[in-house]
Amino acid sequence: MSMRLDQLVRNSAEVIAAAQHSDSARLDAELLVLHVLEKPRSFLYSHPESILDANQLAAANYLVQRRCEGIPVAYLLGQKEFWSLMLTVDERVLIPRPETEAIIDYILQLHLPEQASVIDLGTGSGAIALALASEKPSYFVVASDFSEGAIAVAKKNTQQLAANGSCHEITLLRGDWLSAFSENSFDLVVSNPPYIDEQDPHLQQGDVRFEPLSALVSKDSGYDDIKLISRQAKACLKNGGHLIIEHGYDQRETIIKTIEAEGYLNVVDHDDLNGMPRFVTAIKP
Ligand code: GLN
Repeated sequence: MSMRLDQLVRNSAEVIAAAQHSDSARLDAELLVLHVLEKPRSFLYSHPESILDANQLAAANYLVQRRCEGIPVAYLLGQKEFWSLMLTVDERVLIPRPETEAIIDYILQLHLPEQASVIDLGTGSGAIALALASEKPSYFVVASDFSEGAIAVAKKNTQQLAANGSCHEITLLRGDWLSAFSENSFDLVVSNPPYIDEQDPHLQQGDVRFEPLSALVSKDSGYDDIKLISRQAKACLKNGGHLIIEHGYDQRETIIKTIEAEGYLNVVDHDDLNGMPRFVTAIKP
């Protein structure tokens, strides 16, 4: 059996839409089918009449079926782009979100020292740390995570990106937030920690069902880890150092109060590109 590329993409999009786990069925179908062909998406438009043979059809149908079960496209492809870096991802790490790129934008316009030491806490795939390393080769970038699986994925990413010249290798450490670090160590502490309330019904919907809970959920209605990080960072930051933490769209007021109560200055909350409250920034006095 064989089939034209454009036909297969059309059929696959219909099948994915009917399964009702995706709100981007057409895009998902294009990405999955072209992954089998090892071609960019533009190939569909330049060569819509290409024929997939039986093996390619079977491989594409397998991926489409998994997507119909709800498995995120990024896990099926084994990769996700963040800040124009192609990162390896699997079920051991959160899939990097475009909303988090607003944090990179923000950091790049700070006037940090040339040799700034920065740490990305709960790095997962390494997304934030690697984006910073790619933009600021002179920074000393550390990335940590409590999950051994995450450190393994981040290690793969730093090695791959170093090999293709995208950035220098970053330092990876397994650890519990900042508990292993001494006072006055960093010019910048950044984190996209778990911040979802364990009762949040969104956890039962869509792609997050397949992501590691430890990367999503935090005790104390989602605030526990953010509180811990801001307390520890108060000691580990240098004077004048920056704290940057991502949070949920409905957590702005509580987060600002929490960070101010720790004694930080210039506590400001920022929207993401969708206009939703997304991250807080503050300075250690
Ligand atoms: N922003 C992600 C979501 O809403 C959660 C990421 C996180 O908990 N750090 O699915």
